[in-house]
Amino acid sequence: MEHSYQQRRERARLRLQERGADAAIAYPGPNLQYFTGFRGEPVDRFHALYLPADGEAVLVSPDGYASQAHAYADVESIHSVDGNDPEAVAAAIESLLPRSPEAVLLDDDAVAALAGPLYERLGTDVVGSAKPVFTSLRRRKDDAEIEALKRSAAVADAVSEEVRALGADAVGTTEAELATEIRAGLHARGAKGVSFDVVVGAGPNGADAALRHGDRTVRSGEPVVVDFGCFLDGYASDQTRVVVYDGDPPEGFEAVHEATVAALDAGVEAVEPGVTAGDVDAAVRGTLAERDLADRFTHGTGHGVGLASHEDLSIAEGVPTELEPGMVFSIEPGVYFDGEWGVRIEDLVVVTDDGAERLNDSPRTWRPL
Ligand code: ZN
Ligand code: ZN
Repeated sequence: MEHSYQQRRERARLRLQERGADAAIAYPGPNLQYFTGFRGEPVDRFHALYLPADGEAVLVSPDGYASQAHAYADVESIHSVDGNDPEAVAAAIESLLPRSPEAVLLDDDAVAALAGPLYERLGTDVVGSAKPVFTSLRRRKDDAEIEALKRSAAVADAVSEEVRALGADAVGTTEAELATEIRAGLHARGAKGVSFDVVVGAGPNGADAALRHGDRTVRSGEPVVVDFGCFLDGYASDQTRVVVYDGDPPEGFEAVHEATVAALDAGVEAVEPGVTAGDVDAAVRGTLAERDLADRFTHGTGHGVGLASHEDLSIAEGVPTELEPGMVFSIEPGVYFDGEWGVRIEDLVVVTDDGAERLNDSPRTWRPL
């Protein structure tokens, strides 16, 4: 794993050189973690990674946190500054820059307290956004990242099966109670929290794709949309299954569930290097269209997943982005009947050299098992 951080910084240096930029600055959160293995904590601790186009990377760290930085950050050098003052961190970064820098690319996540002094000292024509460089690097996962994503997906799969196994016991519990049980299950398996607020949508609530969970009681014969993920080793998971915990599903449900699984399969089948994100969306949408369900699929097909649960890659209608090996994203067709029930099935996939590999393998069935 140690080598990967160095390799990532090396790739960043090449991008900076291509762009004629002097340096990039990464802020605590996914970007700092990507380059050093140390996520840090945003807002109250003004860490920043100075990553020059030439020369060694320096983690600027408030003196009280230097030991933490030394313990967790894989980086060439750590520079301690007095106190925990964003001005001091900005001044330290400025002191590392060449005499008259032309372009310094700043992490979009950086808080105003850090960005302000840099803009003030260097001017808006020098300070630009590091987003294009950081997102283009983070889009293609290396082997260490893919392994971490698989571990995170495996935890979500295990909890998904656990919740499914509640069977008839789930009837009578509320969506919020099921969500609490899911969080506890993830935590028990070593996850560091959920990657987004847990979705448990019973009956009509499952038809609202934007809803998280409420206080509705799960009833017999009611499809329940269960969509969640966790953070494990910094990497997010995200998967969706639908379960009818007890009794017979509503009329028409079985065919819709089968169609949604078929749409997911068609999406996975379409994935390979060189096809576009829009092609994958078309494969999913086309499968639903064959069954007159396309107009009930009211959202995009998928999103990038990595150190964040929703990364920059969008799998949606007409998106021209060409898929490349190492890209990881969700495929999540949904079919919604307003006021009645909904179905959404979601897996994560990684683009391989000649196709796709799924990161999720929990059963794609509505039965409680
Ligand atoms: Zn999801
Ligand atoms: Zn998703």
